Amino acid sequence: MVVDGAVTLAWLQRAADALREKRDYLTELDAAIGDADHGTNMDRGFTAVMAKLHELYPTDAPPEPSAMFRTVGATLVSTVGGAAGPLYGTAFIRAGGALAGKATLEPGDIGAALDAALEGIKMRGRATSGEKTMIDALEPAVAAYKASLASGADLGAALRAAADAAEEGMRATIPMLATKGRASYLGERSIGHQDPGATSMALLLRTMTSGGE
Ligand code: ADP
Ligand code: MG
Repeated sequence: MVVDGAVTLAWLQRAADALREKRDYLTELDAAIGDADHGTNMDRGFTAVMAKLHELYPTDAPPEPSAMFRTVGATLVSTVGGAAGPLYGTAFIRAGGALAGKATLEPGDIGAALDAALEGIKMRGRATSGEKTMIDALEPAVAAYKASLASGADLGAALRAAADAAEEGMRATIPMLATKGRASYLGERSIGHQDPGATSMALLLRTMTSGGE
């Protein structure tokens, strides 16, 4: 499979569809330890993203992935309030930066983009793993992706390893005490609930595993 602008655009559409489908679920998770808006935030953001991409670029000849990711990031920053917009926005802008000038992506390029996204989120949120955030899904996913490629796996298998690790990381947020974001205001009462941002992150990574192979 060649990962080009068209494959990237199809992935973003699947991501938008999945976030729409899981909107209420993500909002319920956020109702337990936040302010019940994560699903609506992500759905609003990705609806705006798809509208912007269709406005800017011809669907039959989308530009290189880098340009699209920068547009995605800027749109999320400007349309999603709260913590998740700037965090996901930074992730996509950084991923776009890591892919600059590449019309097609090799598996290693996708690893570099995932690394850049993770670093961007950590920097922007001043957070690290174990704080009950989206980082707890993304960090193990990036590690699993790179380990899978290093062991000789192809792109599809590496992406599946990443999505599996993200889901495991997402479930591992349940017993964690939140120390960043709104959930941290609850202190000990944040324990026992799955983090909404880790859940949307796992969902996005899962949508990367289908549709192109
Ligand atoms: P808000 O908390 O402003 O209502 P959302 O509900 O859309 O924003 O997103 C909440 C999610 O954002 C959390 O579940 C968590 O995963 C993530 N998050 C919050 N603060 C941080 C942070 N400092 N670093 C990383 N992720 C964070
Ligand atoms: Mg919220």
